[in-house]
Amino acid sequence: MQVLKFGGTSVGKPERMHQVAQLITKDEHSKIVVLSALSGTTNALVSIGESLAKSDKEEAKSKIQALREHYATFIEALFSTSEKAQEAQKMIDEHFEFLLITLKISFNEALNRDILAQGELMSTKLFTLYLEEIGVSAKLLPALEFMRTNEEEEPDLDLISEKLKAILVKENDATIFITQGYICKNHKGEIDNLQRGGSDYTASLVGAAINATEIQIWTDIDGMHNNDPRVVDKTFPIAELSFDEAAELAYFGAKILHPASIWPAQKMGITVRLLNTMQPEAKGTVISTATTSDDVKALAAKDGITAIKIKSSRMLLAYGFLRKVFEIFEKYKTPIDMITTSEVAVSVTIDDNTYLNKILTELEKFGTVEVDKNQTIICVVGNFVAERKGVVNNIFEALTSIPIRMISYGGSRHNISLLTDEGSKVEALKKLNTHLFDL
Ligand code: ASP
Ligand code: MG
Repeated sequence: MQVLKFGGTSVGKPERMHQVAQLITKDEHSKIVVLSALSGTTNALVSIGESLAKSDKEEAKSKIQALREHYATFIEALFSTSEKAQEAQKMIDEHFEFLLITLKISFNEALNRDILAQGELMSTKLFTLYLEEIGVSAKLLPALEFMRTNEEEEPDLDLISEKLKAILVKENDATIFITQGYICKNHKGEIDNLQRGGSDYTASLVGAAINATEIQIWTDIDGMHNNDPRVVDKTFPIAELSFDEAAELAYFGAKILHPASIWPAQKMGITVRLLNTMQPEAKGTVISTATTSDDVKALAAKDGITAIKIKSSRMLLAYGFLRKVFEIFEKYKTPIDMITTSEVAVSVTIDDNTYLNKILTELEKFGTVEVDKNQTIICVVGNFVAERKGVVNNIFEALTSIPIRMISYGGSRHNISLLTDEGSKVEALKKLNTHLFDL
């Protein structure tokens, strides 16, 4: 069984949905198809929730109305028979009745998550009805029946696997299954989600849960590129990546794949293919357990980084100092990205400033603390074996005119990270593109 995930833009227009139907029926493989909400829907639902949170019912109502009209137009173009169009309209109406009820009841976080779940529920039902219309037999698997998170709000892969397998044995005559990305139930049994962009994560978890032969992530670009196409003129899709390389890239900027979606596939050794709905024949990017060449594969950048330097003479010849520093970040659930140390100072970077002031107050107990906001991590990803000389030299040669605040090398063999200010990002990516890829 394969798992194929189609993102919001791949199902965001009626003609795209028609094309997805063609793509999933062109071979005989049995498959689970994971769908996102139609593009724009989750943003609209977030925005409806925001209006409700500030008790602006009028605003929420007009946003619900606008979204409803969007679906009405969508249905008109999606179906060619009035019978299925009516059935779809009735289904959509029920979801909008629910949204309208939220105007009348008291708002809370659990209700907000119910609201956010409507997008994937509607897209999968629309698609299933469309498949029925064109005579493709497919079975809708409600994700809320098997996608589970635990008390740490992390997906419970064992439980997902157990539940999903139990459902699938009962459905042994179907070969195409449709399910919702992103949504799940939490340990309290409430509707929840895997965070924005979480449909990729669903696909990887579902793939791992059933030990799929392959996981395909279909988007609107032809795989992961060697550099950010929004920043530099010339980029190319990377043919092959290892899981470790893909994880670094997904985390440090390549928006095409949700970073959390690497581990389930990697754990089970399931090949992940990144493919393009607009260009289905293109090879895309294959992420697998195979070792890749010992080269620089790609560059990525992550903005909005804050660097924090803690200088303390107490660190000199002391042990346990770093633990105390890290404990503060742990206490405020703030992940650290980069770390560099000297004998009397340690610099770390974070990308979430929610608890910055509290963290700084506690760090000041240890020594002097300096903060630089608006930094960018430039990340060079590849397979860097120490025997291959000159990689670092090459990077530095490209960046002679760029101010570099931190450097991290040797943490893993797949990543060399440099910290610079946001204003230098474009120039850094361009220079590296020319220098490392001759582009
Ligand atoms: N619909 C959700 C979002 O827009 C999940 C996803 O598309 O991956 O974030
Ligand atoms: Mg996405």
